[in-house]
Amino acid sequence: MLKIENLHVRVAGNEILRGLTLEVAAGEVHAIMGPNGAGKSTLGNVLAGREGYEVTEGTVEFDGHDLLALAPEERAASGVFLAFQYPVEIAGVNNTYFLRTALNAQRKARGEEELDSMQFLKRVREKLAVLHLKDELLHRGVNEGFSGGEKKRNEIFQLALLEPRLAILDETDSGLDIDALKAVAHGVNALRSPDRAFLVITHYQRLLDYIRPDVVHVLAEGRIVETGGPELALELEQHGYAWLKDRVAPGV
Ligand code: ADP
Ligand code: MG
Ligand code: MG
Repeated sequence: MLKIENLHVRVAGNEILRGLTLEVAAGEVHAIMGPNGAGKSTLGNVLAGREGYEVTEGTVEFDGHDLLALAPEERAASGVFLAFQYPVEIAGVNNTYFLRTALNAQRKARGEEELDSMQFLKRVREKLAVLHLKDELLHRGVNEGFSGGEKKRNEIFQLALLEPRLAILDETDSGLDIDALKAVAHGVNALRSPDRAFLVITHYQRLLDYIRPDVVHVLAEGRIVETGGPELALELEQHGYAWLKDRVAPGV
């Protein structure tokens, strides 16, 4: 589904990703771990097409198409979802209205019919049930005064509603409480499906106590330096990223 080859990315004049190669198949959950400043968020941002990330070399194929040739909204419409590490608050804009607008914009871009309010509410109810969520967050302003856990639940709800093919979740390096971690993990587990892949970016192993990834990658100094199964995350937890540094080729 996703095939990244030799990706080099510059941010504000500095080369942050330096030859990153990664493949994700449909149905799989991949965790990307790595020390602070390794380029994990840069990877998520460049895949979503955010401004300020300059690709200088390499390719990204998504479902056989050149992802990098698409505008951000085209990427979203083609099924790429990036959950923001720090979700924006849009005070005064009703969350239900916001979600319906986002969903319909994507449907329109795909040439599908927009959902009217009855159809939309039906889908909202289905997704709330799948995630075991209440509708309380829907009546508030977008992320307005949401706690960390509420923002995460809202983000997972957005994901459920938009039904992306590739979901990229970038988790904060700190400050995610256990409530928020569980919301993310529960959502990922509930929304796993044979035609959907997840890229779960996380600094800490903790999250992986609740999500069992198929593949764990370590991103360090702008490239994937190690790939393994869930046991790799446990090794990192035990030995820290310093242990890994010794294993990266000298001079890198
Ligand atoms: P991680 O998510 O692994 O902690 P990031 O991708 O956020 O790492 O950042 C990688 C490096 O790129 C860091 O050195 C960071 O300072 C730098 N960087 C990221 N975004 C920007 C930006 N917008 N402007 C300047 N430097 C940036
Ligand atoms: Mg960071
Ligand atoms: Mg980050």
